[in-house]
Amino acid sequence: MFLCYSFQMMDTEYFESLANLLFPDAEPGASLEALYPPRDLPPGACVTRLGPSPTGFIHLGNLFMATVNRRLATQSGGVFFLRIEDTDRKREVEGAVKSLLSSLAYFGIDFAEGATADGEIGAYGPYRQSERQKIYYAFVRELILTGKAYPCFLSETQIEAIRAEQEADKVLPGIYGKYAEWRGADLSVIRRYYEAGMPYVIRLNANVGMTERNSAATVTVQDGIRGEITFPRNILDVVILKQDGLPTYHFAHTVDDHLMRTTHVIRGEEWLSSLPIHLALFEALGWMPPVYCHTALLMKIDEGVKRKLSKRKDPELALSYYIAEGYHPKAVEQYLLTILNSNFEEWRLSNPGVDNTEFILTTEKMGASGILVDLNKLRDISRDTLAGIPAKELADFMTDWAVRENPDALPTFTLERNVLESALDIGRGGEKPRKDLEYATQIFSHISYFFDAYFQIVDSLPEHVSAEEAQVLLEGYHGTYCHEDDRETWFGKIRVLAEENGYAARPKDYKKNPERYKGHVGDVSAVIRLALTGRLEAPDIWEIQQILGESRVVDRLRSFTNF
Ligand code: GLU
Repeated sequence: MFLCYSFQMMDTEYFESLANLLFPDAEPGASLEALYPPRDLPPGACVTRLGPSPTGFIHLGNLFMATVNRRLATQSGGVFFLRIEDTDRKREVEGAVKSLLSSLAYFGIDFAEGATADGEIGAYGPYRQSERQKIYYAFVRELILTGKAYPCFLSETQIEAIRAEQEADKVLPGIYGKYAEWRGADLSVIRRYYEAGMPYVIRLNANVGMTERNSAATVTVQDGIRGEITFPRNILDVVILKQDGLPTYHFAHTVDDHLMRTTHVIRGEEWLSSLPIHLALFEALGWMPPVYCHTALLMKIDEGVKRKLSKRKDPELALSYYIAEGYHPKAVEQYLLTILNSNFEEWRLSNPGVDNTEFILTTEKMGASGILVDLNKLRDISRDTLAGIPAKELADFMTDWAVRENPDALPTFTLERNVLESALDIGRGGEKPRKDLEYATQIFSHISYFFDAYFQIVDSLPEHVSAEEAQVLLEGYHGTYCHEDDRETWFGKIRVLAEENGYAARPKDYKKNPERYKGHVGDVSAVIRLALTGRLEAPDIWEIQQILGESRVVDRLRSFTNF
């Protein structure tokens, strides 16, 4: 419509006038290049980043991505930094950065550079995209000056009409070719619209500045995880600056990762389809793109079907789930490494006792198709991991969990610290150490009977033992109970008690002649265990009694039957 020049005829004067009209004060790109020089790092050092949007929802993907990025940087002597991608003001939530940092810190992820809760650290900032407008404008101006970007005043309605036409004609949707009405528009028209305050966006002119490499119908790129990928090249005049003056993800990420000297962009598979746009942007700006690594999506098996983890349906997608349930950060790290690198489990087995930091993570060993998040596997790993953590450290961990998630339990944990530590210590060491502790809420319910405030009878007496019978047995037990007895003497007394009351002293005797007995010694122990712990399943009674202490043992025996 307004085309005044064919593209070949466009001249420097036109571009300069356009740039001066829209971005009169923008800095030259070259001075920014000088301000953010290449980093002084050893050869092969990776510079990586986490680029979360501050939406307040911190998910497992964030931690997953942070783990990969951080490891690649630290194991190569590079830098891992935090950049807040807050160009979508509508989705922003107050306090999101703070909670992001504290959630990641729980899992041992910290940043030496980038945004912090109350400022920033590092020479490559600002690290919040909302504060980088000047920088984006500088490079938008550069693109306008070379004819590679232009203002587009198409209204919503016009864009919808174009979309409808494209749908009817069954052609690629978007602004390109004949649909890109504002490419090379008459300057006086642009000025008129601009001065009338009409909303506009800045678009990339995908047709300009194509070098031989990307003017072909396809682009080929070496993805760090997926290997060589070939795409149709980008022909869309994508928006780089939105109506509100903020950049789109495409443009912001290009400028930021270039100026922050990022070497590896590790991000989710959902960005793979926009890679041709990003490559076109790097090309237009004359920069080398970083190494892209697109990770697979986090999935789960739901009723036999593998599907993407969903914010709405799956509480385990939220990082807060693992923190509230009290999964130990070491267990989660172990789990993430297991699902991140296919060779990790084997490395772990052949390097017992070696710290996980010694494991070298490689993008080549990362899966390219759906990564399965399986809580059962995480719990398995937790059981093994927690078995190797000293009881004292676990007691600290439980106390920290109580501070955060269960303040009611805090006085108990603090006043009865010895009980807490001893309860966690049961069955440790030896050839077959106890492996039943998984995560804080589960551990708490496992050991809560040690504390009077949480003790309750949850199970019932074994079927063939009546309440009267239980009373007789418990009174008998109480009568012979001596807290100082060693394990053998103690159990000898239970055998005698069993026999005296018509129970076989040994299960095998009962098996041989079941008609001669009411049951066997195991039934007697079950009654005692129920009175002392409220449950039929619990660790060794003798050990439990040592932790409970004499008076608590006696109280519980008494209160069970009111004798
Ligand atoms: N802000 C983007 C996201 O949250 C970051 C993608 C990237 O790492 O480049 O998905």
